[in-house]
Amino acid sequence: MTTEDVVCSAKIIKRKQHRISRQQISPNALKVLYRLSKNGYSAYLVGGGVRDLLLGLEPKDFDIVTDAKPEQVKKLFKNALLIGKRFRIVHVRFRHEVIEVATFRQAAIIDSTQQMESAHGMLLRDNVYGSIDEDVWRRDFTINALYYNIKDFSIVDYTDGVDDLDHGVLRIIGDPQERLVEDPVRMLRAVRLACKLGFVIDEATAAPFKELASLLTHVSSARLFDESLKLFLSGNSADVFATLRQYQLFQQMYPLTEESLLDVKRNHVIDLFLLRLFTHTDERIALGKTVNPAYLFAGLLWYPILLKQYHYKSTGMREVPALDAAIKEVTSIQQKCTAIPRRFINTMRDIWFMQLQFEKRFGRRPYKLLTQLKFRAAYDFLLLRAEVEPTLQPLAQWWTEFYHGNEKIRKMLLADVNKKRTQKK
Ligand code: ATP
Ligand code: MG
Repeated sequence: MTTEDVVCSAKIIKRKQHRISRQQISPNALKVLYRLSKNGYSAYLVGGGVRDLLLGLEPKDFDIVTDAKPEQVKKLFKNALLIGKRFRIVHVRFRHEVIEVATFRQAAIIDSTQQMESAHGMLLRDNVYGSIDEDVWRRDFTINALYYNIKDFSIVDYTDGVDDLDHGVLRIIGDPQERLVEDPVRMLRAVRLACKLGFVIDEATAAPFKELASLLTHVSSARLFDESLKLFLSGNSADVFATLRQYQLFQQMYPLTEESLLDVKRNHVIDLFLLRLFTHTDERIALGKTVNPAYLFAGLLWYPILLKQYHYKSTGMREVPALDAAIKEVTSIQQKCTAIPRRFINTMRDIWFMQLQFEKRFGRRPYKLLTQLKFRAAYDFLLLRAEVEPTLQPLAQWWTEFYHGNEKIRKMLLADVNKKRTQKK
């Protein structure tokens, strides 16, 4: 196909025929688009911004593409910063917003002799400047490849993306196998976007997922961690989790969690626990509340840790060292898949260790626990566990009363456990 053929095949959807109005676009993005255009460059809004506006959703960010080279873009904005080593893009910084401006690029050229991924899991050879009709083919899905032209407010559609948007279909651009081998993270993006938008993944796009899932092991753990955050903090994590499992993608990112879900004795409880973890997370996001990613990861790895702890205890280790050893083993395996930052791991350790401490309700211990920085997260975690493990409900109930109670109630609660302890002895 020559460049001209491709240009001819683009559909132009005129301003009158679509719903995007400039009022919905961030004033900063408009400012950048107009300035590029006034200086003789072409300038388009592209990607998730156009897709979401067409669907009547509020875009997360506005990405811009242009034929101006990064240095030329930088000259036009005093608040611009060139970023990226391999491929330079420009960040135009405003007080509360950063607008990303990229120069049209050509699609990556695959040839079997070339290693497509660097050690950091980034695509190589995706680094030659091009024109709009070349840029379009390097994008992932048809609905992400719509260009809103600031010159006449039309939408340029090379891949029938508008049609797919209308039908709720997520379709990869080009040959699915080839495009997924080129960048396996596209499988995760497909799941995330399909769940976010309530779209179905086109059959041909999804067909190679299971076969190619193991390619995710070649993606850098830092990139997989970033994707994990996007997947599970999307507000649809319960759906995302089920879909990732359906395509055997979850096991590539969380192998020990997947393994725990195959444990014949406990799989029902674990399944339910994870479902509750995700639905609570989604509910919080829907209410506009914050979610601590460390809490989420603490939940994802809790049962693998418990199972490892049981194992260590069965070899004669005491409870605390067994938990410590289990945490070390599980987190170090997990870090190789998704590089969870140290600060999160520290919080996760606090949450996990406090689960043991909740059981030790004598002396001043419960008072000390209340003053711990991560008490609230650990207490919520205990309640979550109790939702799926009825034997934990009395303990959770006790802590709820102790946490909310006044001094008199706390003393009574402590006296009560002490009495029971003595009777037991
Ligand atoms: P979100 O709503 O999460 O921001 P998005 O589609 O805008 O979704 P971004 O990560 O912001 O996602 O990417 C912007 C655009 O860049 C995408 O819409 C797509 O056109 C392109 N893109 C991003 N990641 C890839 C990829 N791995 N392969 C090909 N194109 C990609
Ligand atoms: Mg985006």
